[in-house]
Amino acid sequence: MKHKKMLMVVCDGVSDRPVKQFDGLTPLQAARKPAMDAVARNGLSGTMDVIAPGVVPGSDTAHLALFGYDPYKVYTGRGSIEAAGAGIDLRKGDIAFRCNFATTDDGVNIIDRRAGRIRSGTSELAEAISGMKLEDVEVIFKEGSEHRAVLVFRGPGLDHRVSEVDPHIEGELLHSKAGSPEAEKTARLLNEFVRRSHEILSNHEVNLERQNAGLPPANIVLPRGAGSALAIESLSDRFGLRCAGIAGVTLVKGICRLLGMEVIEVPGATGGVDTDYLAKANAATGAIDEHDLVFLNVKAADVAGHDGDFRLKVQVVESIDMMLGSILKDLHEEVVVALLADHSTPVSVKDHSADPVPVSISGADSRVDAVRKYDEISAASGALGRIRGVDLLPIILGMANRSSEYGA
Ligand code: ZN
Ligand code: ZN
Repeated sequence: MKHKKMLMVVCDGVSDRPVKQFDGLTPLQAARKPAMDAVARNGLSGTMDVIAPGVVPGSDTAHLALFGYDPYKVYTGRGSIEAAGAGIDLRKGDIAFRCNFATTDDGVNIIDRRAGRIRSGTSELAEAISGMKLEDVEVIFKEGSEHRAVLVFRGPGLDHRVSEVDPHIEGELLHSKAGSPEAEKTARLLNEFVRRSHEILSNHEVNLERQNAGLPPANIVLPRGAGSALAIESLSDRFGLRCAGIAGVTLVKGICRLLGMEVIEVPGATGGVDTDYLAKANAATGAIDEHDLVFLNVKAADVAGHDGDFRLKVQVVESIDMMLGSILKDLHEEVVVALLADHSTPVSVKDHSADPVPVSISGADSRVDAVRKYDEISAASGALGRIRGVDLLPIILGMANRSSEYGA
């Protein structure tokens, strides 16, 4: 039995609902997408509750499920995944936070949670903060894209069960409180960290220049989403797979790193609608020779969904289709191809929803059902039925002749 290679293409948030103003179609139904439809036509389709029916997935918990990990068992918060994505190797006992550079007028009142979506100077600002000592705890701080950053506390006696300091809207800074006695030190240090970040950043040269230019200074750090280091068995230990991951956004790269994938950096892969689709296609076809499973995430459809922009989402679908077409054309061996979304981001909702997502899986000798098109409605009549996210990888492994026999 020959093992087949596997390609998993996740169109982030592409799944949607019918929109009245556009003939009651979903963006997937409205788009011209011959490559996606070919995957549906040559294989099996179905719909998928990525976490569970009625649960709205985050991109992080969704991707854990898509690789066969029960998010309710392994997920401790987004911070640790962002930290892995930023290339910080978390150790046991570390606590990680996602952060924003923000603007405050007095150290308490937040007037811009994103510091005017600051684009330059954040690495200098991060350097000024990183290495700070809080009692016996070391602070590791790294800038991300735009106003985003990652904070890690490393030291004894830390716990992630602390309440937020980020008010999540412009307004007064919150005071972090411990959610359990073990977390008291972490809450205390978190409050201290925010205060010190304001002290250090207020007079930083980057901010003085911003103020001179009439821009809001990035003069405080707002951490949120505390998470402890995840103890996750890698995909290679669990399934014996050599995996490669291609993604534009830090969060998804973080999941890839946590699961032990080789993360392939693609210049021009931005995580936005302006991403370089063909560069991602080339990276995927290049990676398939050396790996058993190549995972490719395209974030742009989620962005269009959050913007509530139907036409943009249709355009994104057609760009992803061009990317997929280019990959399929260049594959020179039998590959099981899975096409799916990690959650729905309907343009009418402008956020993630609990609607199940369409999934199509094809391979050279795979069974073929009657579904001809890749979209939410067509897929629902397919032979895969309605599955859960944690079942996806086992199904793909089975179609790739990589499952082991149970019993004799
Ligand atoms: Zn997502
Ligand atoms: Zn989203």
